[in-house]
Amino acid sequence: MRRLRADCSRCAGLCCVALPFSASAGFPSDKHAGEPCRHLDRSFRCRVHAELRPRGFTGCTVFDCFGAGQRITQEVFDDGNWRADPALAAPMFAAFAVARHLHEVLWYLAEAAEFPLPARLAEEVRREFERVDALVGTDPDTLAATDVDAVRREVGPLLSRVSDTVRALVPEPRPDRRGADLAGHRMRGAALRGATFRGAVLIAADLREADLRTVDFLGADLRDTDLRGADLSGCFFLTQPQVNAARGDSAIRLPDRLVRPAHW
Ligand code: SF4
Repeated sequence: MRRLRADCSRCAGLCCVALPFSASAGFPSDKHAGEPCRHLDRSFRCRVHAELRPRGFTGCTVFDCFGAGQRITQEVFDDGNWRADPALAAPMFAAFAVARHLHEVLWYLAEAAEFPLPARLAEEVRREFERVDALVGTDPDTLAATDVDAVRREVGPLLSRVSDTVRALVPEPRPDRRGADLAGHRMRGAALRGATFRGAVLIAADLREADLRTVDFLGADLRDTDLRGADLSGCFFLTQPQVNAARGDSAIRLPDRLVRPAHW
């Protein structure tokens, strides 16, 4: 999983330039795709990193590139620097915009590969990881033209089978909340072990002190979800951006692969 973790020290500030943002709860102003953020310094460091939330850049504290930034900079463009060579800017940004999504898919597959799955299923996961990884490692033009939605559709059923296999080991009931609109719902202290919240909307839901062990969170919207005191050990397909977007505290139990956000 290490190469799927962001390493900003090896990236040319791609997320702070390539991606657009607009004035909202997550950003204080507008920025177009390809336009460097005014807070990005010449060495590709954020000048306001220590005060992002007070300055209204909540969106920056939630974002994670899953290691795509350093891969595009170091591997695909051979330590490319779009400031020193402006001709690199457009192809680097286009490649990054696709690679960050493919690296998220790789994150899920890498996580799936760590489960003790039946041999045939484990082999399918391994092959699919190699296939998607090769898509990122191809030439920049081919990478930029990759249909991310198609890749997600192709990988999705495999991840579903992994989820069913893993959750089947948990005693019933295993609540199925796939795609449910649970925004603002009160589930404090609920016994949800082995549930699936795949694609569910949990915006501002109250999951304080809930038992969320071995829960599938793939694609769930956890913005402002209150997870204080919850037990998320063994949950899966939960990503760092989802965790960063939720509310938490020091009492939450997280899987080892995830980092407790500094703002909790
Ligand atoms: S505020 Fe900092 S982290 Fe956010 S886009 Fe600008 S330079 Fe990047």
